[in-house]
Amino acid sequence: MHQLTLAEIARGLADKKFSSEELTKVLLARITQLDPQLNSFISLTEELALEQAKAADARRANGESGALLGAPIAHKDLFCTQGIRTSCGSKMLDNFKAPYDATVVSKLAAAGTVTLGKTNMDEFAMGSANESSWYGAVKNPWNLEHVPGGSSGGSAAAVAARLLPAATATDTGGSIRQPAAFTNLTGLKPTYGRVSRWGMIAYASSLDQGGPLARTAEDCAILLQGMAGFDPNDSTSIDEPVPDYAAGLNGSLQGLRIGVPKEYFGAGLDPRIAELIQNSIKELQKLGAVIKEISLPNMQHAIPAYYVIAPAEASSNLSRFDGVRFGHRCEDPKNLEDLYKRSRGEGFGAEVQRRIMVGAYALSAGYYDAYYLKAQKIRRLVKNDFMAAFNEVDIILGPTTPNPAWKLGAKNSDPVAAYLEDVYTITANLAGLPGLSMPAGFVDGLPVGVQLLAPYFQEGRLLNVAHQYQLNTDWHTRTPTGF
Ligand code: GLN
Repeated sequence: MHQLTLAEIARGLADKKFSSEELTKVLLARITQLDPQLNSFISLTEELALEQAKAADARRANGESGALLGAPIAHKDLFCTQGIRTSCGSKMLDNFKAPYDATVVSKLAAAGTVTLGKTNMDEFAMGSANESSWYGAVKNPWNLEHVPGGSSGGSAAAVAARLLPAATATDTGGSIRQPAAFTNLTGLKPTYGRVSRWGMIAYASSLDQGGPLARTAEDCAILLQGMAGFDPNDSTSIDEPVPDYAAGLNGSLQGLRIGVPKEYFGAGLDPRIAELIQNSIKELQKLGAVIKEISLPNMQHAIPAYYVIAPAEASSNLSRFDGVRFGHRCEDPKNLEDLYKRSRGEGFGAEVQRRIMVGAYALSAGYYDAYYLKAQKIRRLVKNDFMAAFNEVDIILGPTTPNPAWKLGAKNSDPVAAYLEDVYTITANLAGLPGLSMPAGFVDGLPVGVQLLAPYFQEGRLLNVAHQYQLNTDWHTRTPTGF
């Protein structure tokens, strides 16, 4: 039963092959048995899960239906869940029980999902390896000595190991797509504003976006359907109708114009990944797609711009964790300054502290123009490159990451080495565009992802292309040994 996708679960529940309660019990037992190897969960919510499963079964018995009614999922531990610890992977929020549900959580609950737990993540979503979590690193089920990617590494490892069919995640600079690539999953970062950020603990507000992580594009369509939509509680949420994503999965790729940026294949890309990307291009050509070389000339500036803008926003967002209004409070503070310093010093880990310092520096008088303003100008150039490209092509294709998952600890002493691994993903966040990663093969037994980018609000196009590809390839069906 644990191999079933969301789509298969919906069919099984509708045909009364099993109940949501039965399925939930199977998956909870699997998590208890296998997760100690992975560390993909921060909290398990067994009672809530069984309650929601029974309620979903009762709704089905009353004639209700729905693709998510009775579907077990988990939430990345930065989505606020009422009465349940919402830690954001940090000691700072270890004892924080959110007083309300994030919009994503309440929308999915209303659709009938069953919450199995909260998944591990890099502290405050800062990282690409899930090693900065206060709750310990997450292991990659494809090779337990390697990282699962980050920051949504817990969601990715759990879904890849078949502990559950799908999970929510967030992507500020690649945190849905990169762990999807590292664990052989399909992950979608929607257009900025497509999914409400209300109740999502902020890292960098102008870049953060929630989205689905699952094994197939079809399942991403199903989960996104439950997450997307206008929310008056999020001032950057966009009031655009949400299409029926599952119904849009039958489009022909005949004549689809795919742009392949020449800058994506420069030095730094593992040649074995380059070859797998070429294979995926050939596969899409067989389905009728037309390939066109394009250029994104400002891509080289994106990493430095992102690593100014994201920390700048983080330094502002994280100022609320001061031991008074929110977060861990130190013992016996001598005075107010001591309270702030020690609470923040004890509550935040090294990577978060580094980003707060970089961000505060970039925003300070005298440096603002040189760093922050300059980075914002680069952001506009990156966006303009994409706008020019999308005048000529329907989607942009390339690798999701330059290398496969690295070994645990390999980049701990060199944060910049880890930042460079984000080269292909962060541009979509800077521009606010939707992006998807899907399985494209293996290098040394480790999964490789191909990334597709589309114009604003064309999530449906990405999902359809990925679905057509998955109907003709079987990379996404591979299961890690031992799971
Ligand atoms: N690796 C990037 C960072 O550390 C992206 C993380 C994310 O998308 N949350 O900022």
